Amino acid sequence: MEYIRILKYLVQKNVSSVFSGKSQQKLNSVDMDGIVNFLAETNEVIVMTGAGISTNANIPDFRSESFGLYNRLQKYNLPHTTAVFTLKYFKENPAPFYDIAHEMYPVLQNAKPTITHYFIKLLDQKGKLLKHYTQNIDCLEELAGLEGKKTVQAHGHIKTGTCLGCQKSFDFKFLKDKVIKNEIPRCNECSETIKPDVVLFGESLPKEFWNFTSDFSKCKLLIIIGTSLAVQPFAGLAGQVDLNCPRVLINRDQIGDSEMLGSFLTNLFHLNPEFGSTSNTHRDVFLEGDCDKICLQLAEKLGWKEELLKLMDENNRNIEEKKSKI
Ligand SMILES: [Zn+2]
Repeated sequence: MEYIRILKYLVQKNVSSVFSGKSQQKLNSVDMDGIVNFLAETNEVIVMTGAGISTNANIPDFRSESFGLYNRLQKYNLPHTTAVFTLKYFKENPAPFYDIAHEMYPVLQNAKPTITHYFIKLLDQKGKLLKHYTQNIDCLEELAGLEGKKTVQAHGHIKTGTCLGCQKSFDFKFLKDKVIKNEIPRCNECSETIKPDVVLFGESLPKEFWNFTSDFSKCKLLIIIGTSLAVQPFAGLAGQVDLNCPRVLINRDQIGDSEMLGSFLTNLFHLNPEFGSTSNTHRDVFLEGDCDKICLQLAEKLGWKEELLKLMDENNRNIEEKKSKI
């Protein structure tokens, strides 16, 4: 059903794009300064984020080689490494998933938002942030003070868990206390396994995600941070803005062709051409490097640097109190 919905939207959008005329450059210059000048004048900004914005908070990217997922899970004889993140396998054997969770929960418990999280919060304070779409489950944007309604957690979150049997909801503390003791959390009503409310492969994305058309049709500037847009349907969002809407990618790596070619549907309708391709040189800016350094640079050029650092200092002082609530 979800793919039918995307297909319907893409057909409509493709038809309208045929009649929308030639590409129009909205940036004074297609570089960092062009983005800074445009951002200073623009209010409907959407930010898309991925694991790269949380690596400076010491939260590892599961898919990175340094995390060594394969070696960690070798003892379980999984049919394939990513089986650990599928709903089907989780229902059969949640032990490998909770083995990783056992390592991750203390990290998540102690993590603090990064400069990038505060940059997103500052965009909101300035009245510029339309919405933040994230693949991250760590809720660090919320810790940075961003209101829940401003973020779409496309892959769920760790704040709560749900019993696979009776659907009873459990809070972070309940899950964390079990996971830290290396126990698999079980429901205190029906004894079934509890699954954190993260989206596993084979599960639908949250319904808030599927409202993306109303957000992306209004977007005037798309800022993509810390993701190589490898996972669909999230990656496809980058192709949902107006064909002339400037897009900036802040990441250690450029997005490769093979990754962006991952979705048959989006490519069929040519609505998600690779970032920075020749058809997008009028609107795509790639800022290569560490997200925090680049966000700080942007803030400096916008005259927001002091404000950003003050926001981070003040909020970090109160963070322990906030952490006790999630
Ligand atoms: Zn239950």
